[in-house]
Amino acid sequence: MFAFLSEILQKNHIDCFAALPLSACRVTKPYLLERAGINEGSVLLLAVPYFTPACADPERNLSAYAVGRNYHAFFDALFEELLPLLKARYPEHRFAAFADHSPIAEIEAAARAGLGVIGKNGLLLTERYSSYVFLGELLTDALLPYTLVQPRSCEDCGLCQSACPMSRIGTCLSALTQKKGELDGEEIAALRRYGSCWGCDLCQEVCPHTLRALQSGTIYTPISYFHENNIPKLTLDVLDAMEEDEFLQRAYSWRKRETIRRNLLLLQEKKDEKGGPHA
Ligand code: SF4
Ligand code: SF4
Repeated sequence: MFAFLSEILQKNHIDCFAALPLSACRVTKPYLLERAGINEGSVLLLAVPYFTPACADPERNLSAYAVGRNYHAFFDALFEELLPLLKARYPEHRFAAFADHSPIAEIEAAARAGLGVIGKNGLLLTERYSSYVFLGELLTDALLPYTLVQPRSCEDCGLCQSACPMSRIGTCLSALTQKKGELDGEEIAALRRYGSCWGCDLCQEVCPHTLRALQSGTIYTPISYFHENNIPKLTLDVLDAMEEDEFLQRAYSWRKRETIRRNLLLLQEKKDEKGGPHA
């Protein structure tokens, strides 16, 4: 079964995956396992890279993961292909797939499966793509071959903590850009200081694992889906001109237009202040 899975994943240009027993994973959402009817077997961890040349655009004003099209749609299409093939070929087994909403502690499991180390920035650091990967899982009651490794942490250089613009405030800018409703004065100042309308990548950008992957050129995803339709710099005009079906293809669409529009307006007002008569 592992060879069959590998073939399909490699056909989809996914080259960073590994299996481990479900018993070696920390289950965080048992109801998802119950729903899938799987309580023992294996987990196949997938680290799907997404970084493209547009993510390195110096004008980029949103998180690198939101430059391309929505990763949920990528995983949906992948699992829609994979699950029927598996069910037809191995009818005696059960399968379930997850992205984003996982039944297990996935970063820990990915490190145990040997896909990377656990960064102090809370992310999985893979060798080829650094932290610029989306994690997904395929669960099955079948036993897949595995090699378990002792999960390792990064070298703790502290660069991510020093780079974080929010360490004093105690919240993450990424969460702040996704917050609904009105922002208070301190939150607006933080948003304007970094200039991002969606997300924050500072603790990934300064990481030596990222710099190494950039220098060696391995960071770029081989998956064409993530290269299509990239928008590294979002403006009010671009947002307002987006048809609804195009907007729904964006990772920021789950918060509706109002949230990202509010952020863009706050950044625009700052620019207007700077460019005013006394500038
Ligand atoms: S910047 Fe340094 S401490 Fe932070 S995740 Fe990278 S290696 Fe670890
Ligand atoms: S994403 Fe930005 S604000 Fe959040 S922890 Fe990393 S550097 Fe800090």
